[in-house]
Amino acid sequence: ETNARIVIAGGGAAGMAIANKLNMYLRGARITVVEPRPYHWYQPGQTLLLAGVYDSRDDVVSTNKEYMDADVRWINDSVTEFDPDNNQLHTAQTGKLDYDYLIVATGLELRFDLIEGLDPDQIGQDGIASIYHSPEAGIASHKQAMKFAQSNGGQGVFTRPKGAMKCAGAPLKATNLVEYFAHQAGQRDRFQFDYMTAEDFLFSVKVFDKRLQEIWQEREIQPHYEHDLQAIDSQTQEAWFSTRDGGQIKAEWDFIHISPPMSAIPVVRDSALADTADFKGYVEVDKYSLQHKRYANVFGLGDTVGTPVGKTAASVKAQLPVVATNLTALIREEEMPARWDGYTSCPMILDVGHAMLWEFDYSLQPVTALPFEVVDPLAKSKLSWVMEKSLLRPVYDIMLEGYTPI
Ligand code: FAD
Repeated sequence: ETNARIVIAGGGAAGMAIANKLNMYLRGARITVVEPRPYHWYQPGQTLLLAGVYDSRDDVVSTNKEYMDADVRWINDSVTEFDPDNNQLHTAQTGKLDYDYLIVATGLELRFDLIEGLDPDQIGQDGIASIYHSPEAGIASHKQAMKFAQSNGGQGVFTRPKGAMKCAGAPLKATNLVEYFAHQAGQRDRFQFDYMTAEDFLFSVKVFDKRLQEIWQEREIQPHYEHDLQAIDSQTQEAWFSTRDGGQIKAEWDFIHISPPMSAIPVVRDSALADTADFKGYVEVDKYSLQHKRYANVFGLGDTVGTPVGKTAASVKAQLPVVATNLTALIREEEMPARWDGYTSCPMILDVGHAMLWEFDYSLQPVTALPFEVVDPLAKSKLSWVMEKSLLRPVYDIMLEGYTPI
């Protein structure tokens, strides 16, 4: 029993789930969520929109009310300033809010603005695609991909920005899907597929990286490392990338899928909560306890935390009991017992019907929730695809309701 005032900034996957969870376990606590959007966006479903398995906005969008417990107070507003020295935050319309404990779960900002010449409204037209932008862009990206795959041939370009991003597997999944569509359409040899990554790897876990390289060699998808998208021209269908030697190269495209640079939202980036070192701009937490390193009554949760891995909903699922347990211990003035090990999972979609279930943690070694014989993370598997397509959504929904399933 407590009467603590707990404010949760952001009510997406992480904020919604922790609000409902704390409401269930912390009797008497006064829980407030500040979330500007009236709706909930199931972002992992964006890949299924590109795959054509989902085909409408309703497949990925639902109302917040559907999930939020009635006695959680939801302020339909944005945080405009964090003031952790005074245990306060400011909002756009509702004024300031005082708290005893704060959980920051404001996700990421997509930085399409950093790509010169790109008008985000153009995504879904003229061969430009991105599953990151919105549900509408996800649907339109599928249409663009099919148009390209059913054309007489051309060049497909897929980009991956530098640094942290949500679902770092998504640009790879997008590449696999579009190559599969071209293959299915019957004239694969008329197409060229180039994956341009600003990083020097395909995936940060070496075993998975190596496996995907093998698959791409067979499927003739060409990776280009340390190629960072700078600018795009939709008229001439060209894109410019900075390269490792400081130079710039131009690539022509008939279809381009863009994964934009990402960062914490400006309100976090510019606040006293932000890390100024390794994870610049992200909420500076202890990577195991998720407690803020300088403000003991603040926790970070979800994509906005500065940790070496973990910007996925699967990571949120693993972080939730850690934050709930540690916050409860803090309120009771006990030692915080829980640690997040960096658990992250990414079902690497290979085509419509197959995937590889990749799971790992801070060790950057594969780990498996299910026995290895059931799901071999390096094998092309129908079961892993079925999990991605049919199991993740109910598991995610139960998580939003405040339970921590499997
Ligand atoms: P979000 O769910 O993005 O929520 C952040 C919330 O903060 C939003 O509701 C936003 O409105 C709110 N907010 C923003 N600014 C403010 C403000 N100023 N004040 C208050 N609130 C604010 N994960 C997986 O596990 N598996 C997958 O296969 C997978 N695939 C993905 C594919 C794509 C294309 C994308 C984009 C993501 C994918 N993810 C996947 C990642 C997953 O969706 C995120 O990791 C997850 O949503 C993180 O939850 P979050 O609450 O931290 O952020």
